[in-house]
Amino acid sequence: MTTGQDIHDLVTRLYPICRSISGDGVRATLRILREIAPLDLHEIPSGTPIFDWVVPKEWNVRSAYIAKPNGERIVDFAEHNLHLMSYSVPVNGRFSKDEVLAHVHTLPEHPTWIPYRTSYYREAWAFCMRHADLVRFDAAEYDVRIDASLTDGSMTYGELYLPGRRDEEVLFFSHVCHPSLANDNLSGIAVTAFLARALMRTEREFSYRFVWAPGTIGSIAWLATRAGVLPKVRHGLVAVLLGDSGVFQYKGSRFGNAPIDRICRRVVARRGGIHLPFEPYGYDERQFASPGVALPVGRLTRSPNGGFPEYHTSADDLTLVRPEKLAEALEVLQEIVEAVEHDERYVNLSPNCEPQLGKRGLYRSTGGTELPERQLALLWLLNRSDGGHSLLDIAEESGIDLAIVRSAAEELVAAELLAKR
Ligand code: ZN
Repeated sequence: MTTGQDIHDLVTRLYPICRSISGDGVRATLRILREIAPLDLHEIPSGTPIFDWVVPKEWNVRSAYIAKPNGERIVDFAEHNLHLMSYSVPVNGRFSKDEVLAHVHTLPEHPTWIPYRTSYYREAWAFCMRHADLVRFDAAEYDVRIDASLTDGSMTYGELYLPGRRDEEVLFFSHVCHPSLANDNLSGIAVTAFLARALMRTEREFSYRFVWAPGTIGSIAWLATRAGVLPKVRHGLVAVLLGDSGVFQYKGSRFGNAPIDRICRRVVARRGGIHLPFEPYGYDERQFASPGVALPVGRLTRSPNGGFPEYHTSADDLTLVRPEKLAEALEVLQEIVEAVEHDERYVNLSPNCEPQLGKRGLYRSTGGTELPERQLALLWLLNRSDGGHSLLDIAEESGIDLAIVRSAAEELVAAELLAKR
């Protein structure tokens, strides 16, 4: 049984690694995930055309700092990997104070936080610092050294396929391209890894595919190189930003009312979460929603992109993500899987008026710990089980929790009042 602490421990282990959209940090991350679930690493060479994009050069960094002429370091990548803008080109030289400050980002409104910045598609270099540390620039000149490489290599993603009785697939996608940021992206990476492990140990109706890939360029590359898989995807979820204290937010797929949308809206609403309509901005759900791809893939988060003050700063750290929140996110994903796996249609075997439930021990009129909802679920199931209504349809119409409808159906099957269509 996975605990929130297990998930948080994995987040903690992955936190120091410097990830980006390519490079050894992603590989190291995926190799650690392999200890949880046996994913395969896939490499796509730099320069590979993927739809309207091209796989970029591979970036790796060994060290980076700004120092005074006396050697005193003002800012050092070794202290925090957010200090270097991701994909900064190599630099080795002496610059005036003004020249250097033109390459420094800070957050004046949060002077003790380091911002997270990237420049993937335009060759540039920059450092990111605590605004409060700008006072360290008290010399006229500085030595800047970025010992990095930006060369033809490859972009890495991880994939795990778990076959089920059906060939039809459920897809989970989480991005892996952010460095030391805990909620965005380590929470999603860790929770889906533990979901994969749990699914490996169960009987599966559907087949499941987990993809851990860089944001945007990674989902585009995956979609461009996995044409054979796409027609099999019946349901999908981008599962990211799941560890903060915000309520769950489900963002609908391109279709708005696909089964995954209906299931997730219900599961999330039962936990006080909210539903967001689709918009073509956010995370990788927008690639799955493009008109040429058009897959039923929604997005599950807690606080989404830009939705919490610590977003894309050093304050998105190991204290922002809570073990109990990670555990609840895993639970929610498992509820969604349960609903996807068991969205059956039944027929009532005693359809002429209500069958007498009391004599079968199914109707308990007084006391006990049974929820009235459960009694009501029996009546709804008997009424709507004409072969045309699924459990999801019945849950939606009655307003009763999917899990209760499902277990009430099992009870009626055991009493030989319902049969699967
Ligand atoms: Zn992000």
